[in-house]
Amino acid sequence: MIDFAVIGSGISGATISNKLNKKYSIKVFEKAKGVGGRSSFKRFKNKIGFDHGLQYLSPRSKEFKSFTKKLIKKRIIKLWRGNHEFLNKRVKRDKKHVKLIGVRGNNDISKHLLKKINCKFQSELSEIKRQKNCWLLKFKDNSSAYTKNLIITAPFPQVKKLTSKFVKTKLFKNKVKMNSSLTVLLMTNKTRSNVSSFFTNDNILGWVSNENSKRRFKYNRDLWVLQSTYEYGRKHTDNYRNKTKYYTNVLIDRFKKLTSLKIKKIYFTHIHGWKYSSNSKPLKLQSYWNKKIGLGICADWFGGPRLENGWLSANNLYKKIIK
Ligand SMILES: Cc1cc2nc3c(=O)[nH]c(=O)nc-3n(C[C@H](O)[C@H](O)[C@H](O)COP(=O)(O)OP(=O)(O)OC[C@H]3O[C@@H](n4cnc5c(N)ncnc54)[C@H](O)[C@@H]3O)c2cc1C
Repeated sequence: MIDFAVIGSGISGATISNKLNKKYSIKVFEKAKGVGGRSSFKRFKNKIGFDHGLQYLSPRSKEFKSFTKKLIKKRIIKLWRGNHEFLNKRVKRDKKHVKLIGVRGNNDISKHLLKKINCKFQSELSEIKRQKNCWLLKFKDNSSAYTKNLIITAPFPQVKKLTSKFVKTKLFKNKVKMNSSLTVLLMTNKTRSNVSSFFTNDNILGWVSNENSKRRFKYNRDLWVLQSTYEYGRKHTDNYRNKTKYYTNVLIDRFKKLTSLKIKKIYFTHIHGWKYSSNSKPLKLQSYWNKKIGLGICADWFGGPRLENGWLSANNLYKKIIK
């Protein structure tokens, strides 16, 4: 039987697995086809693709800054240079925080941390049961597994659904509100735009990234990631699947109007709704650990809306486990 089953291969699951792997046997279960969670990279032709969720890292804490410096040295992440333009002239440019991206895709950090770890994909955990001194994990495809300890890194509502029977503290009394957003991946003719990203003050389109400016591959068409505002996402993420063409066009039209770029041809579009995109209100604790039953929870939502919060939460949980 494995020592630790870790649910999720985003930054929180990858970080805690990488740390625990030095001492214990670990297996990661991930419901998606690949690594990265909300920092996944969507590939559609060899190396070409889009950062599907997270766009860049902007380290704030001393610990995370030092971790990212090591990753830069190992050529896993790099600086995203270029012209990051604010379409709202009243917003001040954020010159203080650097923008870091994966060298090949923003799931590079998770991939690096999980290099030596046994991961099972397309395995969605649907139920957990306590049996004697271990956990029985039941998956959506009717498979099951036993583990001595269990760590879950999913978004707040999903963790609550799976574990509330076993968590006797006030953790789930907290109101963690997760924001939603719609993302459109778009391939157009070359516009010769020299902008790496656009921030807007629109109420529909929040942000646009120019994938080619990340200099991961050479491509003779423009690749864009359009992200809706949370306000628009909150209203439309639940029903976008019934009208994908409509919502794709809404975001593309806003993009064209706000940037005035010369978009003559659209070659490819893909829309995704992030029901649990990020959260805004941090909790007072950084992670949850119950040694008695071997249940741990770490995720970005303990600390805030950014990838760094997931990394800090996983480090905090690790310290509690080895204490
Ligand atoms: C559109 C978007 C843009 C963003 N932009 C930025 C940004 O620019 N900068 C920034 O710092 N942050 C950004 N974020 C937030 C950032 O992506 C997250 O903070 C970070 O990825 C969270 O990592 P995590 O490991 O805690 O959670 P996740 O990445 O969500 O990982 C959880 C994993 O668990 C898996 N999982 C869930 N339930 C189950 C289950 N039952 N069984 C098996 N597996 C399961 C999921 O598939 C997922 O892979 C953005 C997020 C989104 C969605």
